[in-house]
Amino acid sequence: MHASRADTVELSVIVPVRDEEGNVAALAERLASVLTDLDMGWEVIFVDDGSTDDSWSVIASRHRSDPRVKGLRLSRNFGHQSALLAGLHISLGRAVITMDADLQHPPERIPDLVDAWRAGGKIVHTVRVDRGGESWWKRATSRTYYRVFSYLSGVNLQSGMADFRLLDRQVLTEILRFKENALFLRGIVQWVGYPSATVTYESAPRNSGSTKYTLGRMLRFAWHGISSFSIVPLRLGIAAGLTASFLSFLGVVYAIVSKLILGHTIPGWASTVAIVSFFFGILFVYLGLLGEYIGRVVVEARGRPRFLVSEQLGSGAVTAVPEVPEGDESP
Ligand code: UDP
Ligand code: MG
Repeated sequence: MHASRADTVELSVIVPVRDEEGNVAALAERLASVLTDLDMGWEVIFVDDGSTDDSWSVIASRHRSDPRVKGLRLSRNFGHQSALLAGLHISLGRAVITMDADLQHPPERIPDLVDAWRAGGKIVHTVRVDRGGESWWKRATSRTYYRVFSYLSGVNLQSGMADFRLLDRQVLTEILRFKENALFLRGIVQWVGYPSATVTYESAPRNSGSTKYTLGRMLRFAWHGISSFSIVPLRLGIAAGLTASFLSFLGVVYAIVSKLILGHTIPGWASTVAIVSFFFGILFVYLGLLGEYIGRVVVEARGRPRFLVSEQLGSGAVTAVPEVPEGDESP
């Protein structure tokens, strides 16, 4: 493939894939028809995040029939955010869209994202208006989480914002300079600023397969988000300590007053034990919290790569094949 062809890519669509063999072909089909109508040079990059099913061969066969569909295979499962990042790194478009593989993010909304981008939005967010097929529990936890996150970090996240968005190349270049290991894209895209726009979409139920976000993974992801944006939880320790000291001071005053003035000693083996264990509980919770933040520092200090690539299909920055000069006859 000629390098000049790559220059014509105006729009990149990045799709992280983890065990989505039942979705890749259908999504590629719908994307191709939507993108072709747009009259822009485009590429779709499927990032296989260590799938254990046939996702990669589906991607490869798509690539063979249409080279604008490209594949990037990570060496193992690195997680949704790292897969997105890997795709962002090799994308070529002046505008880059990220979306899920399970067809919950409708490709048919892409023209509206592109319109908002052409109208000047450097970041086009999407907000889900109806979480089709999601449980009451998932909706409630997600709403609560976004509220707590916004409160703690001062970065305003709206409920229903997922990793379905468009980034202008200028913003993307800045974001790719962020070297933090626990990059939380949903927060970072708010943090960076720039003119932005928002497009709503109706979420469809997952097409095939099941969610990769179990409760444990969701909690870990949620904590990563908060701890990479806010140190308020650490400060809460100070508040808890001060409150505890103040209360125990009141207790001591009360004990002295009742002994000296009212003339009776307060008995209290049980209450002493209760109070001591209560405060030890708080103390250990905060030790753990402190450990969490120190652990994050250790991870960041190691500075390991956030993903490793094992294979790439299609042109891109990572394995651009040098062209053989014309007339080169060497064996
Ligand atoms: N995904 C991934 N790596 C992972 C987990 C998920 O690349 O370790 C992909 C997955 O294939 C999908 C997207 O991230 O395209 C969102 O995952 P999922 O639909 O399971 O999350 P949910 O929509 O349930 O929050
Ligand atoms: Mg999904």
